[in-house]
Amino acid sequence: MSKIQELSEQLANQIAAGEVVERPASVVKELVENAIDAGSTQIDINLEEAGLKKIQVIDNGEGIAADDVLNAFKRHATSKILTQDDLFRIKTLGFRGEALPSIASVSRFTLETSTGEEEGSYVYLEGGKVKEHKPHSLRKGTNITVADLFYNTPARLKYVKTLQTELSNIVDLLNRLAMSHPNIAFRLVHDGNQMLRTTGNGDLKQAIAGIYGVSTAKKMLAVAGEDLDFKVSGYVSLPELTRAGRQYISIIINGRYIRNFALNKAIIAGYGSKLMVGRYPIAVLQIEMDPLLVDVNVHPTKQEVRLSKEPELMHLIETSIKAVFEEQRLVPQVDTKD
Ligand code: ADP
Ligand code: MG
Repeated sequence: MSKIQELSEQLANQIAAGEVVERPASVVKELVENAIDAGSTQIDINLEEAGLKKIQVIDNGEGIAADDVLNAFKRHATSKILTQDDLFRIKTLGFRGEALPSIASVSRFTLETSTGEEEGSYVYLEGGKVKEHKPHSLRKGTNITVADLFYNTPARLKYVKTLQTELSNIVDLLNRLAMSHPNIAFRLVHDGNQMLRTTGNGDLKQAIAGIYGVSTAKKMLAVAGEDLDFKVSGYVSLPELTRAGRQYISIIINGRYIRNFALNKAIIAGYGSKLMVGRYPIAVLQIEMDPLLVDVNVHPTKQEVRLSKEPELMHLIETSIKAVFEEQRLVPQVDTKD
């Protein structure tokens, strides 16, 4: 036997899971992003024990055809890109084809899905192995249930923090996904308690009100700016409405919530000297650009991106926010629309 052996598919999936599936929130992120990519208008998330016992995501998206359903569990299998050219023009949240096989390899995984045009499918896997696969009747859409996450990777289970911390990570993530997609109705229920609900009527300010509260939303001003490459829109808080940390700044590029230090800095720069030291605004900025200008293939979780015209975008953000306060100075009036 040669010394160098190819890893079994199952082992390779578990290794990939180490990167993609860090904690319950990572599973929620991948499943909800798939539901968004499937064109859903309603996504329900049900959790038990902060997702460690159960994570269920129910969507009304396009579903998976019966003859495709097992392909979804193959590594690097995706319906979202095909060529290298596609990789530079990513319009979906997913494209790596890693999430389902990775999550399935570290849990008991149930998939029910239907395209609405033929009989649907039911698949049950344990530790990445298919245990059951049969036809199943279902309305158009997909239900995924991930039970007993990390049951077969005790080291990872140990690394998971308290249920409270894991739950707050999930709520934070869903808040940002909901603000990134105000046109989708999200509902999050944990152990029977509703934690989040958005209407999905497309209004970002209403989504913000649903998340940060109506009185906070009332103290946020609309931002809009545009140049040849970028379109910026969203809401920023009045300078007197601040927080002690940067985590209330949300930046969404082409529907994807991202973290970017330089763009955070540009938002803060837009406030000039209006913020007290150590205080940060609440801001939700949606930025639209040609996908060619943003490389999302930097990190497995795709939260870090590379921007090819970052200085130009920083300038646009800063000046758009400055313009809001300039207007506010001339016509001091808070937008009180809910
Ligand atoms: P990726 O999202 O990178 O393509 P995943 O492993 O997350 O990879 O999913 C594999 C494939 O399974 C997707 O490309 C998609 O075709 C299908 N899929 C997964 N979740 C859903 C869903 N909720 N609705 C419809 N199709 C889905
Ligand atoms: Mg995916």
